Amino acid sequence: MLVSEMKPDEEILDMLEMVHSIYLVGCNGCAEVCKTGGAKAVAAYRKFLETQDKEVSGICNVDFLCNNVLTGTRLVREIEPIDRSEAILVFSCGVGVQVVGAVVDKPVFPAANTISMGGHFGLWPGAEKCAQCGNCVLGYTGGICPVTGCAKSLVNGQCGGTTRGGDCEVEKGRPCAWLQIYERLKTIDRLDLYRRILAPQDKSKLMPGVKQRKTLYWAIDQDVKRKE
Ligand code: SF4
Ligand code: SF4
Repeated sequence: MLVSEMKPDEEILDMLEMVHSIYLVGCNGCAEVCKTGGAKAVAAYRKFLETQDKEVSGICNVDFLCNNVLTGTRLVREIEPIDRSEAILVFSCGVGVQVVGAVVDKPVFPAANTISMGGHFGLWPGAEKCAQCGNCVLGYTGGICPVTGCAKSLVNGQCGGTTRGGDCEVEKGRPCAWLQIYERLKTIDRLDLYRRILAPQDKSKLMPGVKQRKTLYWAIDQDVKRKE
């Protein structure tokens, strides 16, 4: 289980500043439980976006967005409305957003932040990784996570040490995540996002807050740890 919470509306609208037509993708797995995904939450957000003069070209809810095969086969049937949109807003954890970014050549934006539950990690079938940083920046990085992908977890890259072959300076054979981010933003024609300087990540969000410690997820997590 990956726990997520909605980003503030202002942050989502700021990410979508240059976007008018949007396609919405929701996850019916963990995100639906957290009320950040699922048909009801996505339909409600559609109404909100329409009050903000945005056009929603379509909606698709996938059972487990973290499953790239399942997500790919569902989204391939939505090519026409996705093609009509300028970007995709994804209602899921960071893994789901990364999967959508990997299967569709469109800018992807996260509607939620994936939050830490004190070290207990969820399970998902793909290679995408999320460190539950609580401040998802995938909307500015073409859906590639710099927190888990970059050896230094830089949210403003590159560091300058990338090798001529495109490897990370920290580890031979490891691709530079920021070079991948640059290439992806170039492909989707959003290099303007690369030039944007992001604020340093608020590391206090890595600690589960009081609100989170009162949830059922926290109680289950603590119970799992006691039994380990
Ligand atoms: S930026 Fe990366 S680590 Fe942070 S929530 Fe998004 S996917 Fe997870
Ligand atoms: S070379 Fe790339 S991946 Fe490695 S630390 Fe620098 S920016 Fe991060």
